[in-house]
Amino acid sequence: MCFDCMKQAFPNRGETCLDSGSYLMNFQGCSECQKKEQMKVQERKVETDEDDVETIVYQHVCGNCGHFIAEHKYTFYVDGDYQEYEMYCRLCGRSATSISIMPMDPKMQSVQF
Ligand SMILES: [Zn+2]
Ligand SMILES: [Zn+2]
Ligand SMILES: [Zn+2]
Repeated sequence: MCFDCMKQAFPNRGETCLDSGSYLMNFQGCSECQKKEQMKVQERKVETDEDDVETIVYQHVCGNCGHFIAEHKYTFYVDGDYQEYEMYCRLCGRSATSISIMPMDPKMQSVQF
């Protein structure tokens, strides 16, 4: 893994959790071949463990020379009434968010036209 291809290592992304793609804003360009346009994702794996924690892992690599830029990790699990998301990637940054899984407001659902 390498520090030279990105502007900032592990930027704080607040609540933005990505399970695919790349944070191009933070990509400086490949330190090996200087190309900036061809970053790609490879070896994407989705795993679910016995506690129903879903983990998605993939690699950011240079599409031109194959230079390994960063490993991306995204986790998802349900904790009570909340869905918890976390992202951890040197390129895309760190973030965490939780979203309520409670049903929508019943008043909203009963509106009929
Ligand atoms: Zn690099
Ligand atoms: Zn390259
Ligand atoms: Zn990433």
